[in-house]
Amino acid sequence: MNAEVKNEMNIDVKNIGDFLKSHGIRPSYPRVKIYEYLIRHKNHPTVDMIYNSLADVIPSLSKTTVYNTLNMFVDKNVAIVLEMNDSEARYDADVSLHGHFRCVKCGSIYDFNLDSSDFRPRGLDNFLVSEVQVTCKGICAGCRT
Ligand SMILES: [Zn+2]
Ligand SMILES: [Zn+2]
Repeated sequence: MNAEVKNEMNIDVKNIGDFLKSHGIRPSYPRVKIYEYLIRHKNHPTVDMIYNSLADVIPSLSKTTVYNTLNMFVDKNVAIVLEMNDSEARYDADVSLHGHFRCVKCGSIYDFNLDSSDFRPRGLDNFLVSEVQVTCKGICAGCRT
């Protein structure tokens, strides 16, 4: 798995341009703002959530630009798209190994820690695992009270 990109969430917001460049992404203003949104909010946003938040800051922004930018981030391995079977895709700039808990009541998605030693798939000898996604569903602590 991607051990070499494990600490990407530690990058300074000021260095987003350099960070994107180092991954072969030309750091246009909308791209920097979209990436900054992802690492600041950590809320696993949809395209709409990012668009609604940035439309005032970047009047020329379109939902298509947000969508294309996020998919390019995924292509360049600086973000992942969560496999949640939701109607809308959700994105995450944390590409290190971690699990997601989805609350079926409020729809929030929470990160949880996962050690690579927790994950040893059996019966996949000679398979190449390129991506691991661990998803739990249930009711979050806030919705239970
Ligand atoms: Zn909840
Ligand atoms: Zn996450």
